[in-house]
Amino acid sequence: MSNERIALVTGSNRGIGLEVTKQLSDRGVKVILSGRNQEKLQEVKAAWTGKVAPLDTIELDITKANDRARAAQKIAEQYGRLDILVNNAGVIVEGEWAQNNSETVSQDDLQTTFDINLFAQIGLTQELLPLLKRSKAGRIVNVSSILGSLAVNADVESGWSAVKPFAYNASKAALNMFTVSLSQSLADTNIKVNSAHPGWVKTDLGTSAAPMEVTDGASTVVDLALIDSDGPSGQFVHLGEEQPW
Ligand code: NDP
Repeated sequence: MSNERIALVTGSNRGIGLEVTKQLSDRGVKVILSGRNQEKLQEVKAAWTGKVAPLDTIELDITKANDRARAAQKIAEQYGRLDILVNNAGVIVEGEWAQNNSETVSQDDLQTTFDINLFAQIGLTQELLPLLKRSKAGRIVNVSSILGSLAVNADVESGWSAVKPFAYNASKAALNMFTVSLSQSLADTNIKVNSAHPGWVKTDLGTSAAPMEVTDGASTVVDLALIDSDGPSGQFVHLGEEQPW
């Protein structure tokens, strides 16, 4: 088994996912670009500015079970293992910021948000676990948000409102539960599982009002993807600081 690390980043065509792939590649990691649109991935590959060229591109809509299975099969056949999985792809559905609180949220918005931000993350992770178990140092980073912290939301003085966007906040709280649960069931393996809060970052999702540049926003995710064997598992982290669940 070679010492080179192989990573899969979901939603690596833009935003935080794209920046994470570049920073991982600058740290010597071979990254498999993935996203819903193969054309966009080829554009990213052609305009690549990271140090190590992307290893591959995989068309992967994380909500599609067939795509998840195909991705796992391709990685198994071509590389035999996976060292790093960054569950980055995520959404806030249209109108969530402005409208959706727990009194008004629609079943459709809840379904769409949970399909992408939770069910697909669990499905993809389960599909790739056998490959991560073949790594000497498997790392799973669930890209969460401080908006998913129950402790922060419950503190009305915290400045983070529990009211909106409800579906998004609830999906990230549930994703955090996945991190805690999976880290415990994998405690006897080489795999570490952590949740990252990137910060409020200027992307399509974060909007131009966000204070953080995407280069800084990616750093928490990259650090967790590269933690040493004595690093944490089952933590929620922002810029090296543990966050409350
Ligand atoms: P962007 O909107 O810029 O990017 C979202 C990415 O997710 C895109 O690549 C998009 O692909 C992809 N995606 C969405 N749905 C799917 C799907 N079904 N299958 C595959 N890919 C999909 O958002 P950010 O970069 O800001 O967000 C990345 C992560 O960071 C998210 O999980 C988000 O919740 C989290 N986060 C962001 C914060 C911020 O301030 N920006 C704050 C805290 C957390 P496509 O181009 O095809 O739509």
